[in-house]
Amino acid sequence: MTLPYALAIHGGAGVMPRASMTPEFSKECRAALKRAVAAGEDVLHRGGAALDAAIESVNVLEDEPLFNAGRGAVFTTDVTHEMDAAVMDGASRRAGAVAGIFGPRNPVTLARAVMERTDHVLLIGSGALRLARDAGLPFEEPPYFYTERRRRALEEALALRANGQTIDDPALRHGTVGAVARDRSGNLAAATSTGGVTGKLPGRVGDTPVIGAGTFADNRSCAVSATGDGEAFIRLCVAHEIDARVRLAGQTLEQAAAGVVMDDLTRIGGSGGVIAVDARGNVTTPFNCEGMYRGWVVEGDTASVAIYHDE
Ligand code: ASP
Repeated sequence: MTLPYALAIHGGAGVMPRASMTPEFSKECRAALKRAVAAGEDVLHRGGAALDAAIESVNVLEDEPLFNAGRGAVFTTDVTHEMDAAVMDGASRRAGAVAGIFGPRNPVTLARAVMERTDHVLLIGSGALRLARDAGLPFEEPPYFYTERRRRALEEALALRANGQTIDDPALRHGTVGAVARDRSGNLAAATSTGGVTGKLPGRVGDTPVIGAGTFADNRSCAVSATGDGEAFIRLCVAHEIDARVRLAGQTLEQAAAGVVMDDLTRIGGSGGVIAVDARGNVTTPFNCEGMYRGWVVEGDTASVAIYHDE
């Protein structure tokens, strides 16, 4: 029996606040989100696998300098980029992830290589880069990843920090990209990729590559990709907590995701959101902050993209 496919993507909770959003920037972001939905949907429409669809969407978002992943990643305090990414296949519960890497054009593709070409789940450092070279993945030089917007965000973060303050503009502070999909065979998958948070200490790893925190997929319940304050997402095991509520507590996907994001995350002072799809193809995208760049499509319907709450 074939089932209708479903796909959701996000370009992170680090959105431009509504007060400073311009029509041009909003248009650019929405167009990029549409391209990412279309890329993943194309795979699903041709009968492809959820994992391929999720990675295809994330590749588009990584190549897009608007979002904090791949090209356009934020800077560490050393003015370097360190990227994290993960994939998980809900059918086999196999997963792959990389942390703190720099060089590969598409960190999420390297995460997939970890899953498919090694016995491990998480690789860092020179070993991760060696795998990328062995797998023939494309590398880029620093100018490819450099964006003036992220450089200015770092200066601002460091200036505020010198005064004992923290950056409160989400667009300057953080961001991530991700996708979750359910294919026509009923398989679920999740993929997430990020530059982390602006002005992070070199060596800091967020929730994205931590399986069960920022990325998770299990055919029995749901696939989840998160964005927001990584440390809070790790402490709450957000993605796995949503899975557990669906699988063990009998909650609907919407109840489970909203409970974790709106209640638990808010309670510990964390900000952000998730995109999630369940085994029945339901999609939910809760966030407890001003906005989350996002898009979704269910087979038979037209694709939607949105940034703020009331869309
Ligand atoms: N969760 C990411 C991290 O902490 C950042 C984000 O999604 O905004 O690395």
